[in-house]
Amino acid sequence: MKNKNENIIEVKNAKKIYRMGKEKIVAVDDVSFTVKKGEFCCLYGASGSGKSTLLNLMAGIEKLTGGQIIIKGRNIHRMSEKGLAKFRQNSLGFVFQSYNLLNSMTALENVELPLIFKHMNRKRRRRLARQMLINVGLGDRQKHKPKEMSGGQQQRVGIARAFVSNPEIVFADEPTGNLDSKTSKEVMDIIKNMAKANNQTIVMVTHDKDLAEYADRIIHIFDGRIEEIVDLKKEKAIEQEELEPDQELSDAYIEGGVIPAENPG
Ligand code: ADP
Ligand code: MG
Repeated sequence: MKNKNENIIEVKNAKKIYRMGKEKIVAVDDVSFTVKKGEFCCLYGASGSGKSTLLNLMAGIEKLTGGQIIIKGRNIHRMSEKGLAKFRQNSLGFVFQSYNLLNSMTALENVELPLIFKHMNRKRRRRLARQMLINVGLGDRQKHKPKEMSGGQQQRVGIARAFVSNPEIVFADEPTGNLDSKTSKEVMDIIKNMAKANNQTIVMVTHDKDLAEYADRIIHIFDGRIEEIVDLKKEKAIEQEELEPDQELSDAYIEGGVIPAENPG
């Protein structure tokens, strides 16, 4: 039986150093934190602070210089190339800033792609991909190619593709970075609601404070290090508690006869 509070991702002393000739760039500098299953976690910080590098380390796209990344109890940087590819196919989804859709393919074919890699039969994957497009509000754009859609629509195809194989974790790097603020909010709502419906874990990178606030927890990154971790869920719960004592107090007054609830006459 899986623990509801399990740490689905553990980042332990992660370090990434890029060597450019004689220069060393410490992009991620001894970072440790955990992400719980079903949590929406945001890596927030200025451009160049190391957010994308950290996300890519977590997704097994970049190699660690030091430390460990444990996902679902497995040390992903110890896996074979093939093992890691399989693990990514089965457990991870990705949303990119630049959508990364294949231009020669229709929206439906783009969404189907991860299922082809999983060797799902055509009929089943068509049905799933179609349903995903309907879920993101693009039921009427199945045959459109990326160039025949707006940025927001393209990213909704990107989201449908990331979620179609029902991955446990979705990584998103500035998913609304190319969109206007209204469309950004629509796209964020789709990501958040989709993840919530299936208890999926989201790790999203952004430099935008308003978008970071969609998360349950914000990990502030500065110069490759964690500067602060803000638990928005906890903060909201505390705000809620702070409201409640007033209610209790007034109930006590009524019960204690300080304010008569009803005049017995
Ligand atoms: P962010 O996503 O927060 O904008 P990045 O993770 O992209 O930041 O970059 C962090 C730092 O690492 C930057 O100083 C950047 O120039 C450097 N960097 C990123 N990728 C590479 C690379 N492939 N080679 C060398 N330096 C890199
Ligand atoms: Mg980046």
